[in-house]
Amino acid sequence: MRRTIIVAGGGPAGLSFACALAGSPHRVVVIEPQAQAALAAPAPDGREIALTRRSEAILKEMGVWQSFPADAIHPLCEARVLNGASPFAMQIGPERGDSLGNLVSNHVIRAGLYAAIEDQPNVELRCGRRVVEPRIGETGVAVTLDDGSELVGDLLIAADSRFSKLRDALGIDASVTRFGHTMLVCRIAHTLPHRHTSTEWFDHGRTVALLPLAEGTSGLVVTLANDEAREVCALEGAALEHRMAGFLGQRWGQVTLLTKPTPYPLAMTFAERFAGPRCALIGDTAVGMHPVTAHGFNFGLLGAWRLGQLVGQAADPGAAHLLSRYARQHRLATLPLYEATRQLVKLYTDDRLLARPIRAGVLRLGALPPVRRIMGRLLSQDAAA
Ligand SMILES: Cc1cc2nc3c(=O)[nH]c(=O)nc-3n(C[C@H](O)[C@H](O)[C@H](O)COP(=O)(O)OP(=O)(O)OC[C@H]3O[C@@H](n4cnc5c(N)ncnc54)[C@H](O)[C@@H]3O)c2cc1C
Repeated sequence: MRRTIIVAGGGPAGLSFACALAGSPHRVVVIEPQAQAALAAPAPDGREIALTRRSEAILKEMGVWQSFPADAIHPLCEARVLNGASPFAMQIGPERGDSLGNLVSNHVIRAGLYAAIEDQPNVELRCGRRVVEPRIGETGVAVTLDDGSELVGDLLIAADSRFSKLRDALGIDASVTRFGHTMLVCRIAHTLPHRHTSTEWFDHGRTVALLPLAEGTSGLVVTLANDEAREVCALEGAALEHRMAGFLGQRWGQVTLLTKPTPYPLAMTFAERFAGPRCALIGDTAVGMHPVTAHGFNFGLLGAWRLGQLVGQAADPGAAHLLSRYARQHRLATLPLYEATRQLVKLYTDDRLLARPIRAGVLRLGALPPVRRIMGRLLSQDAAA
């Protein structure tokens, strides 16, 4: 029998889940506040997403990867982590193959996901609408939308961001860690080569990262205390370029700002449960990562894909045993890196004197071959691993 799955949120996770249900007999209704035009041709938002090899394999299986323009895919061959002005660097390379993964802009990924579901016969998009109230029954679910209309179904998927109102309305708690820092992201051109290596370093009071894109261009990521980030964002023209270039020192030669920085206040969230009766959480609604380990979308895609595989062909997609299997698997897959990232960020944003030698020690520990191998495997999430 044909069942109905309601997806609240047409962000990267909600659209990935809809893609994962291609070929399913069930009807999938995605509800998204943004206009359809904004989903079809999303504006650049400054995010350069590091996709693991496993994500690449999933996106290929969905037919999404094939829609990315070749010049929008940038290989990430190696990652370097430095501590302040110290010349010592931890280098992380791939365990297999010649790259850790690829960088693709967030708006390119979103456009690819939208294009894949646009003609999918079992998917219906309701744009310009939001879910305001969910109701869960034993045999089905119902949601009220902001125009007062109601929709009934068999399973409700919450994919409405890390500060999900739906998660609250479903009575599912989440732990939240706020860092008091904001990440500024923009594109720059530079005269020295990046050699397809990302570089991240921890300076006094800030973290700077460079993500290699086309030759001579990179994504610049600067993490600052909220007040300083606000002050930088208020700058214009040459003053802004001078300030942003100043974060790089002389490391990449002459620097030109190609886009204005977009600010993202930083917080990590982890839901206490990823599923409940006839409902499941995916994407940032389940696990809201810190961008420093580049796994938010990678985890969201993995969870959406696994859940899609579990419920897509099931007679009852809201069956409790399927949802608890998803919740268990996804928790296991995400919790270790979530916790490691949280501790790492705390350590590297701690400017007390004692934290500095600990940071240097952690980097040297990370330089040991076994640790580097684990890090390489973790960051690339090799499709075969
Ligand atoms: C600077 C930065 C860099 C990043 N880099 C990486 C990286 O390198 N690698 C990586 O894997 N990840 C990265 N991420 C993380 C990644 O961008 C996110 O994990 C991902 O976008 C989350 O997608 P989502 O669909 O879960 O949530 P969102 O993108 O927040 O989408 C939620 C959607 O729900 C909709 N919505 C809200 N309320 C409602 C409602 N009531 N009803 C219906 N819909 C609703 C919203 O309009 C939105 O479209 C980065 C993030 C940032 C900020």
